[in-house]
Amino acid sequence: MQIKESITAYLKRNGYNKLDVRTILFDMDGVLFDSMPFHAQSWEKCISELGIACTREEFYLYEGQTGFNTIAYIIKREFNREATEEEKKDIYKKKSQYFEKCGEAPVMKGAPEVLFKTLKAGLTPVLVTGSGQRSLLDKLMHAFPSTFSEDKMITAHDVKYGKPHPEPYLKGLEKTGAKANEAFVVENAPLGVRSAHSAGVFTVAVTTGPIDKDVLYKEGADIVFSSMDELAENMEQMIELMNTLEVL
Ligand code: MG
Repeated sequence: MQIKESITAYLKRNGYNKLDVRTILFDMDGVLFDSMPFHAQSWEKCISELGIACTREEFYLYEGQTGFNTIAYIIKREFNREATEEEKKDIYKKKSQYFEKCGEAPVMKGAPEVLFKTLKAGLTPVLVTGSGQRSLLDKLMHAFPSTFSEDKMITAHDVKYGKPHPEPYLKGLEKTGAKANEAFVVENAPLGVRSAHSAGVFTVAVTTGPIDKDVLYKEGADIVFSSMDELAENMEQMIELMNTLEVL
């Protein structure tokens, strides 16, 4: 795990001489909650019911983008036409119902420690999720009390394009007034990593699902950890290096 090298490479690539981290932009599903198995299972069920062939695994690759974008992609692939707004609403509603039935997704192992260390370092956590599910956002407040605030969140309702477009992470930066080199992102999904990388923010990826590290590096991750636990173990050192390393 080459933290120092990845920071130096980021600075050189973006033309910064240093990072000055004030905020951490957190993805939610697969980072703070171990909710991806429930999402993948709910997608597989509602899409197969439409008579469309799909695999549970493919939904890990679409993770991060809005549900509407996933539906639009699948309808285009299957029928070679655009999905109607009504179709998107109906299918997404069904998927959300199946997801609700899965019950509460557990908190991701290691996430409480990562958030604890975020606050301890005096950094502001901002949530940047493609999810628009009200229940999950309430759950976030419940699972991590006094950590996130309503005005420090970007959800599916705040964006026009969603991930992999840089928009959600750029809007996340706006929430605290931080510049790209005053933050880093924690993501688990290829499309989320692409979004963060395109927004010019140092991107920490975690492999909490079936996606290989290589895939996340190819999408632009600056560093990839095997779990949120491994990120937690490296948090202090990484933040310290981020705020001290300089390139001339
Ligand atoms: Mg995610």
